[in-house]
Amino acid sequence: MKTCNFRKIFSFFRSVCYNKATSPGKETPPMPKPAITLHTPLTEFHGVGPTRAAALAKLGLHTAADLLAYFPRDYEDRTLRESIAVLPPDAPAAVSALIAEPLRTSYLRAGMEVTKGRAVDHTGQLELTFFNQSYVRRALHPGQAYVFYGQVTVHGTRRQMTNPIFEPEGKWAQIGGIVPVYPLAAGLSQNFLRTLLRTALSACLNQIEDPLPPALRAEHRLVGAQEAYRAIHCPATWADLQAARRRLMFEELFCLNLGLTYLRTRRECESALPFPNQDLSALTGSLPFQLTQAQRRAIDEAAADLRKPTPMSRLLQGDVGSGKTVVAAACALFAYQNGCQAAFMAPTELLAHQHQATLKTLLRQAGLRVALLIGSMTPAQKRQTTAALAAGEIDLVVGTHALLSEGVQFARLGLVITDEQHRFGVGQRAALAAKSGGDLHPHVLVMSATPIPRTLALMLYGDLDLSLLNELPPGRTPVETYLIHENKRPRLYNFVRKQVALGRQVYIVCPAVSQEDPDGVKAAEQYGHALQTEVFPDLRVGIVHGKQRSKEKQAVMAAFAAGDLDVLVSTTVIEVGVDVPNASLMVIENADRFGLSQLHQLRGRVGRGTHQSYCVLLSDSENPQTRQRLKTLAATTDGFALAEADLKQRGPGDFFGTRQTGLPQLRLATLEGDLTLLQEAQTAARQTIQTDPPLTRPDHQALRRRISALFQEKGEIFN
Ligand code: ADP
Ligand code: MG
Repeated sequence: MKTCNFRKIFSFFRSVCYNKATSPGKETPPMPKPAITLHTPLTEFHGVGPTRAAALAKLGLHTAADLLAYFPRDYEDRTLRESIAVLPPDAPAAVSALIAEPLRTSYLRAGMEVTKGRAVDHTGQLELTFFNQSYVRRALHPGQAYVFYGQVTVHGTRRQMTNPIFEPEGKWAQIGGIVPVYPLAAGLSQNFLRTLLRTALSACLNQIEDPLPPALRAEHRLVGAQEAYRAIHCPATWADLQAARRRLMFEELFCLNLGLTYLRTRRECESALPFPNQDLSALTGSLPFQLTQAQRRAIDEAAADLRKPTPMSRLLQGDVGSGKTVVAAACALFAYQNGCQAAFMAPTELLAHQHQATLKTLLRQAGLRVALLIGSMTPAQKRQTTAALAAGEIDLVVGTHALLSEGVQFARLGLVITDEQHRFGVGQRAALAAKSGGDLHPHVLVMSATPIPRTLALMLYGDLDLSLLNELPPGRTPVETYLIHENKRPRLYNFVRKQVALGRQVYIVCPAVSQEDPDGVKAAEQYGHALQTEVFPDLRVGIVHGKQRSKEKQAVMAAFAAGDLDVLVSTTVIEVGVDVPNASLMVIENADRFGLSQLHQLRGRVGRGTHQSYCVLLSDSENPQTRQRLKTLAATTDGFALAEADLKQRGPGDFFGTRQTGLPQLRLATLEGDLTLLQEAQTAARQTIQTDPPLTRPDHQALRRRISALFQEKGEIFN
């Protein structure tokens, strides 16, 4: 029995040693099964069992091609340093040195041993410390040269590395150089991913086709695709890496741009019902104010689109309070005047309610029948509304995602409006559009209060036309913003009282709903009750947050809008759209918890009437970056400037929600950071389209395939 086991163990060791001897790391990775192609599932790779396959899938990695497009998030500089004496303190570095004497292991306590040694070169000595790695005593031989890589610490003249990785000098090339660092998921190690990538690279790098034609590459000094993929994973030098990144970023931006341009072309081939009858007086006659110039221009631009038999696809961008709702109302009116229905999608029930009320008032005189459709209505109410919609007895329906549900059909849907477009996916918009039936596409107006610098907007929403409301209605006094510490709270409460005494109303926004949420921050529920009972027993305090039932929320909001509440304690449910002109003070608790654009949205809830309004940001954060961010908000009321500041500080990421727009994700390029390259790519895309509109030239075939694949979510874009 025993011999049998020993034999097994022996043969196991022999196989391990044998493998080690014949597979010297980098050059010969674990034997790939024959004929790995870009489409080979990763499960067929050596070492990928069900567990690792699942972990890889979590990262979106299923095939060899996915793997090659999985770019490192960073690199370790393991290129050799000159000598020990110049090793930089508190940074990782690689150095070649001789082991000076046998290493010694001592036992600190149970389960904790430390092995120490000394390595030297002609400039000095390096102390080596290994915890729980006593095998290094046998691996490191006195008198021999090794390369050590690790974090360097300096104490006086002594330099030290803890748990460095090392290799005999002759073998360093295999693990040295510039080493990629990949984003990981649980169950995957850096070394495993590196090996997997090396396998994929050596098996199918030469199968990668280059979407960029040679002439274009030459003109823009771009390396080839295969060269770029090799170098981004295994750069030989930093310059090598730089060239690879530039090439791949260019490719991303170029392809995105080309695709968007084709989408626009495709839309121009679609049909829509034109709205030739347009009489705005039915709306303007009932407005208590004059339209701003910007509103007039935006309405004119939309009106011109709507007269055409091709679907409008327009993005209306305007800062909070710029008056986007009136523009939407004008479009709905035009639909009505041409016998069509309009649908207005809002991101929350609260907003749907409010928009329905506003639009009903705005369009009453013109004769539109305006209805609401939201998830929290009773089945009977919903049935009634959907029946009326299908029968054409409703002219404008305002709702949430409920508008997308199956039972909803329109008699003659001609226009779709979405508010806060970044919260709706392209798919959802398409689903709504499909409800118009037949071959006709509805006109689409998307509204956004998230200001995006124009170049970026054009890049991201290149398939949309852009209208800008860059002017606030007159008579608004800018909101005064103050950043205060906790110790001013008593004075703040006095200020709240003063505003209420003047007949005004106050918002107090908290980051959390209830105290089960991360502690230390104000929670609307508890804080609201405390304010009512302890601080403002004589004032009328209401509470609203996302976890309440829809009915409850509406009741509280309605009471606040009617002036029956003095103070409204809430979460960010009031962030977008809520409109109570009498409110003049916005207090934001734990302001450091919010992003700049979000704070700006919240601030936009006040200053909507003629009263001087205030925004008070409470924060005890001492983080200099945070304070800077909050001071930026206090100093400027320009949403576009703030958006740019936010972009710089937080990066584009979810800010743009590219994922939600259904556009391809950018893996490398960051839009705001690569503006020059972006412009170069835009120009190149324009030229490509001018010279070969449908991309039929032989040298454009790979490009055509790439763009079809990138935009597959949008359907076949070349037809
Ligand atoms: P937003 O662009 O944030 O959606 P709204 O459409 O809610 O802005 O309008 C904000 C407020 O300004 C509303 O109270 C609205 O009645 C008012 N408003 C809109 N247009 C004008 C205008 N031209 N003159 C004066 N007030 C206006
Ligand atoms: Mg709005």
